[in-house]
Amino acid sequence: MARIPNDCFSAPEDMISVEQARELIGANLKTVTQAQTIPLSDACARLLAEDITSHLNIPPSDNSAVDGYAFAHDSYEAAQGIGFSNLGRSAAGTPFNGTVSGNCCVKIFTGAIMPAGFDTVAMVEDIVETEGKIHLPKGLKKGANRRKAGEDIEIGTLILKKGCVLRPQEIGHLACIGYSEVPVFSKLKVGLLSTGDELTEPGTPLKAGAIYDSNRFILSSLLKKYGCEIVDYGIVPDDLDAISKALKKAGQECDLVISSGGVSMGDEDHVKAAIEENGSLTFWRIAIKPGRPLALGQIGTTPFVGLPGNPVAALVCATQFVRPLISGLAGSHTISPPLPVFGKSAFQMAKKSGRREWLRGRYYLDADGTPTLEKYKSEGSGLISSLTWSNGLIEIPEETTNISVGTTLCFLPYSELYE
Ligand code: AMP
Ligand code: MG
Repeated sequence: MARIPNDCFSAPEDMISVEQARELIGANLKTVTQAQTIPLSDACARLLAEDITSHLNIPPSDNSAVDGYAFAHDSYEAAQGIGFSNLGRSAAGTPFNGTVSGNCCVKIFTGAIMPAGFDTVAMVEDIVETEGKIHLPKGLKKGANRRKAGEDIEIGTLILKKGCVLRPQEIGHLACIGYSEVPVFSKLKVGLLSTGDELTEPGTPLKAGAIYDSNRFILSSLLKKYGCEIVDYGIVPDDLDAISKALKKAGQECDLVISSGGVSMGDEDHVKAAIEENGSLTFWRIAIKPGRPLALGQIGTTPFVGLPGNPVAALVCATQFVRPLISGLAGSHTISPPLPVFGKSAFQMAKKSGRREWLRGRYYLDADGTPTLEKYKSEGSGLISSLTWSNGLIEIPEETTNISVGTTLCFLPYSELYE
C-alpha cells in the first residue's frame, strides 16, 4: 500500500498559525487510495481518479431550443407576406430526412435536429398559419432559437479533473458523454478509537463515574460525510499496553488512524507513549481555541491524528485539520476551504489577540431580515448541547480583540464544514 514519507508530520518548533498548520499538513501528503471502476449510478460523492476529456460534441448536432418552425434565414426577407410551405417535421429522436429549399420550413420540436441548410427557428406561438402557409414573425436574427453542435462541450475539452468530487451535476456530465462506469479512488480507510477508562459503549449500563462515548459517533458520522470507510476499534482503556496494541493493529489495517482523548499530558494520557512504541508523535502548538495541541504522528508509515477528548474540541479540530488531511490522502488535492457567510454580531466579547477562535454560533435572519449571529451562552468545550444548539461556527480572526454588537462576523455553516 502506498504510504506517506517518514517525516511527514515533523514538529514545527514554534507556535504556528492555522494557515501554516494546514499548509504543513498538505505539503507532504500523497494519495494513498487506489483507482477502481464503479457504476456511474453509485459514484455520487466519490473522488474522480482520472482526468476526463470529452470524445463527443454536446449537443452532438445543431438542434432546436424551442417548439416551432425551422427555416433558412437567407430566404426570410423574401418570404415576408408570402409565407413558407411546410415540408414536414423534425422531432427529438426522429429527424427530418428530406431535402430543403428556399421559401419552405419544417415543423420542429425542442431538441430535434435542425434540417441541413436551416439555421433559424421561429417559436410556434409566434407564427400564423393561413391557407396552408406558415407566416413567420418579423425581427428574428440568424441562428435564433438554434443550439449549435458543441456549444455546451466541445470535443477534446478537459471536462473533469482527477481528484474532483462527483456531485449530481458531474455524474450528469459523465452520463451526457456516454459513461456508464467511472474511475474513482477507493474510499480512505480510517481506523477510529476512543481512549478513556470512564468511557462506556452506548446501549450498555453506565457505572458510577462513567460517561458514554460520544466522540466515536460524532467522528465516524463526520468521516462518512467526508467519504471515508470507517473501521471501528472501539473504546480502549487508559492503559499503555492496550492503547499500544490497538494503535498498532489499526495502523496495520488502515490508511489513517484517529483517536480522541488521552493526549492532554495527564497521568492517564498514554497515547503519546503508545505511538512512540510504534512510530513517532509530535504535538503541534497551533494558535487556536478550542483545541489543545494537536497530536500528529505515524504508526509505522500510517498517519495518525490524536484529537482532544472534549467533544467540541474534537469536532472543531476534525473539521479544521482532519478534513484537509483526509482529502489529500484520499486523492483530492484541490479541496476548497469552507465558504463563509457573514452576519452582524448580536453579542459582545473580548478576545485574546494572536489566536483564531471558533465559537458555536447560530446564524439567523432577524425581524428586519438582517443576517445575525448569536453565540452559545457558555464556552466549555465539553458542552455537547452547544453543538446541537448551533448551526455552524463563528470564526474570529487572530487579530480581533473585541467584538461589539453590530460587528460583522464570519460564519462557517456546518453544511460547509461537513462537505
Ligand atoms: P482527555 O483528553 O482524555 O483528558 O479528555 C478530556 C475530557 O473529554 C474528559 O472530560 C473526558 O471524559 C472527555 N472525553 C474524552 N473522550 C471522550 C469521548 N470519546 N466521548 C465523550 N467525552 C470524552
Ligand atoms: Mg482521558
